[in-house]
Amino acid sequence: MSQRQRTQVGIIGAGPAGLLLARLLEVHGIESVVLEARTRDYVEARIRAGVLEQGTVALLEEAGVAERLRREGLVHDGAEIATGGRRVRIDFRALTGKTVTVYGQTEITKDLIAARLAAGGPIVWEAKDVALHDIETARPRLTYDHAGATHELVCDFIAGCDGFHGVSRSALPASSRQAFERVYPFGWLGILADVAPCSSELIYAHHDRGFALASMRSPTRSRYYIQCDLDEKLEDWPDERIWQELKVRLDCEPPPNITTGPTIEKSIAPLRSFVSTPMQHGRLFLAGDAAHIVPPTGAKGLNLAASDVHYLSRALIAYYKKQDDSLCRAYGDTALARVWKAERFSWWMTTLLHKLHKKTSFEAQMQRAELDYLASSRAAQTALAENYVGLPF
Ligand SMILES: Cc1cc2nc3c(=O)[nH]c(=O)nc-3n(C[C@H](O)[C@H](O)[C@H](O)COP(=O)(O)OP(=O)(O)OC[C@H]3O[C@@H](n4cnc5c(N)ncnc54)[C@H](O)[C@@H]3O)c2cc1C
Repeated sequence: MSQRQRTQVGIIGAGPAGLLLARLLEVHGIESVVLEARTRDYVEARIRAGVLEQGTVALLEEAGVAERLRREGLVHDGAEIATGGRRVRIDFRALTGKTVTVYGQTEITKDLIAARLAAGGPIVWEAKDVALHDIETARPRLTYDHAGATHELVCDFIAGCDGFHGVSRSALPASSRQAFERVYPFGWLGILADVAPCSSELIYAHHDRGFALASMRSPTRSRYYIQCDLDEKLEDWPDERIWQELKVRLDCEPPPNITTGPTIEKSIAPLRSFVSTPMQHGRLFLAGDAAHIVPPTGAKGLNLAASDVHYLSRALIAYYKKQDDSLCRAYGDTALARVWKAERFSWWMTTLLHKLHKKTSFEAQMQRAELDYLASSRAAQTALAENYVGLPF
């Protein structure tokens, strides 16, 4: 049986991009329906990003979902780079007047879902076989299967917020699409543990054995990452080996106080830079990981999804409230201008801090010189800080 429904904006994906867009539109009285392939439990349990730019926090405030974030989020004035056995502090507040906030993506997702449901906004969980139709017309449609029936959603616009593995990107004509990609020859082993963080701020460590990152989710929950080879398996990394390796790679002055304990989550993720252009076609707009991926070194993935949503929500609000479609027409180019800068920064941080496979002696010297320069130059530290806290929207 087929069921037909009408909405203003059809949103594919209940990740941060789709949920934040739905919420911002809702605040401005614009209807949307969110279609999500997974269950609510699955989406709320997904452990991913955790460092928020000030602009992302402002957007969450605007969306009316920042009450818990203000209470529980950890505001960080800086971060440290450990290199050559010493710690170099990058003072974000002094260098840029801005800070970042540590608050888990899982918590943002929970806050956005709760606000959406409290406002009566629809999220269709377990929407299967979502397909896009007529995106070049003024009445694009989405079809999907749910609870044993086929549904049709007729929209004014479709927002493809369905992540890297979603269906939206491939709905753009292949002849107009171009992909830019770098796959790095290493990955990140990430762990969560209910132990106190080893430092009050993040420590990014460059070490001969490979990169490590000491991060946190709360004053009692730590998040650590270790650069690993792509063919390594989780079985290769029992907890004892992880803590041992972290102690070696984070060995610096003053020494971080690493508390060990059982890991509660462990995963290995490959690192990739990816941009697909254009980010719009007809009445379809892509936002977030559906259009681009960054390696997590610069903490930009979630923040880029948020800045795309900033531009897209502004464009849709101007369309509905002022009958002005100029921002909609410009959306892709506007978003991409910021995406490319974040791609550059994430690629640079990754190249600066990781052990480079097959690096020639010249590349190794360049990496060392760059780290020395960063340690000694206020200008270099300002450039890092300005990008890390987030370029303006
Ligand atoms: C393992 C991992 C670790 C990460 N760690 C960090 C980090 O430390 N720091 C950082 O900044 N970034 C990190 N990221 C990146 C960050 O999490 C993403 O950039 C962010 O989630 C992007 O949000 P999004 O809404 O665009 O996409 P997603 O979060 O991927 O959301 C897409 C949603 O669409 C749904 N979906 C997919 N296909 C369909 C379909 N066909 N139909 C309907 N729904 C569909 C998915 O189930 C998902 O809920 C990490 C990513 C991963 C995968």
